[in-house]
Amino acid sequence: MEYYSLNGRASKVSFREAVLNGIAPDKGLYFPENIPKMSSNFIKSLENYSKEEIAYHVIKPFVGSDISKSALEKIIENTVSFDFPIKNIENNISTLELFHGPTMAFKDVGASFLAQCIRFFNDKKSTVLVATSGDTGGAVANGFYNVEGVDVVILYPSKKVSLLQEKQLTTLGKNITAIEVNGTFDDCQNIVKKAFLDRSIKANLTSANSINIARWLPQMFYFFFAYKELLKSEKEIVFSVPSGNFGNVCAGLLAKKIGLPIRKFIAATNSNATIPNFLDSNKFVIQPTIATISNAMDVSNPSNFPRILELFQNNVDVLKDSFASYSFSDKETKAAMQKVYKQCKYVLDPHGAVGYLALKKQTISKNQHGIFLETAHPLKFLETVASTLQRKLTIPENLKRLMQQKKVALKATSYEDVKSILNK
Ligand SMILES: *Cc1c(COP(=O)(O)O)cnc(C)c1O
Repeated sequence: MEYYSLNGRASKVSFREAVLNGIAPDKGLYFPENIPKMSSNFIKSLENYSKEEIAYHVIKPFVGSDISKSALEKIIENTVSFDFPIKNIENNISTLELFHGPTMAFKDVGASFLAQCIRFFNDKKSTVLVATSGDTGGAVANGFYNVEGVDVVILYPSKKVSLLQEKQLTTLGKNITAIEVNGTFDDCQNIVKKAFLDRSIKANLTSANSINIARWLPQMFYFFFAYKELLKSEKEIVFSVPSGNFGNVCAGLLAKKIGLPIRKFIAATNSNATIPNFLDSNKFVIQPTIATISNAMDVSNPSNFPRILELFQNNVDVLKDSFASYSFSDKETKAAMQKVYKQCKYVLDPHGAVGYLALKKQTISKNQHGIFLETAHPLKFLETVASTLQRKLTIPENLKRLMQQKKVALKATSYEDVKSILNK
């Protein structure tokens, strides 16, 4: 499979090169040259396949011959090595829990796949540079920790990530360096983009953000896993995906394109409502980023949206048949957390709560089933969850130990600060 740049001025590259480049030299996102189609027999008989087999079938055409069968099987085995359970919340509404991986957020799937691909392809020393709105940092740090030949530099917005998220990325040490940026996630993301185009940076930079195809593509897996579980019910499925950079929901839409029969995807956002506003007004207006309690979605210029438009040949009317997007305030989010807890003792995290709200806004008919993704474990947002539900949460021992470790982070206020750290 070859990948082209959405900006159209860079040459096509193989899977390997697209992974190692992260972003194309013309600043465009890489996009697969053709969209493979899964056979409908395979989809109908998903129940007969293990999650490893499903993941292999889904990703294989996108990887092509750049990774051997046995190596790819091993990579997948490590990537999906935890559970993806579905829990019933109310009539016709369930949640797909994606937080059973090592850093307790769905990003473990993409970050682990990417880290293993880079490890597989790596022939020279490289530096993975990544911006995080909260969860990417921990997932990437965990995926690359102690990997020889790879340094990881993580940029995070000061005071805009939860305590536990900050500990996950600032306490590992060794080949992991955290930089606390005085600014928002979008500022961090802009610094990363700038660094990739800066020829005076000596390090051999690789990206680990969701713009990297090896982060983006494996996110298709869990939509297939969920579909397999619900195949018997014979209902149409609507997914609600808590969204920030829109990588996850874009992977869902790609899963649909390659043949997974999903009725609709809803991108649920917090007050950073660029896409809901765009669908309403046809105007793409980027407002300053607003800090919310669902901080991993505090993104005002979602990087992956151009990929969504490309999937639908830039036809917004056609897109709207498969896709909707709604925005919710922190107040609504907290009320949803309280309601669901009261109703069925289920503890939502703030991101999942936004996903739940978006499903409730969409009418789910009798022959449909709505699934919202629980993208992170509620304990990752301990302060918010405990105060919203007015109850003490039990913290497992491993998290207590993590909370006691000392944070180590360099500080940066500008691009130049980050550059001098990279060139040291
Ligand atoms: C990253 C993240 C999101 C947003 O995912 P995107 O792919 O960037 O849209 C949602 N919830 C949580 C908990 C996250 O960490």
